[in-house]
Amino acid sequence: MQKLVVDEKCIGCGACCAIDSEHFDFDNNLGTSIVISQENLDTEPVKEAIDACPVGAIYIAEAECENCPNCTCQKEEHKEVDNTEAENTDEILATA
Ligand code: SF4
Repeated sequence: MQKLVVDEKCIGCGACCAIDSEHFDFDNNLGTSIVISQENLDTEPVKEAIDACPVGAIYIAEAECENCPNCTCQKEEHKEVDNTEAENTDEILATA
């Protein structure tokens, strides 16, 4: 499966959010952009956002883990996490 990822290099410039609000939103608590949709990853705005990111923080990765929105680690324990009751990524990671 393919996943759109914003990694830890994000400096919060907001460019991706301005280019593609379908896939990116700015998280004021984190001070960074977050991915809000994994649908339609082959669209032009996604490519434009990837190209526009000044630090190369956005990419599309192959991932087996479906539990963590931005996780591409493919760790065995992440594959086994049941996140049906977890409300956010922190809770999911805390159980991994
Ligand atoms: S363009 Fe890159 S650095 Fe700027 S907010 Fe988006 S992911 Fe972060």
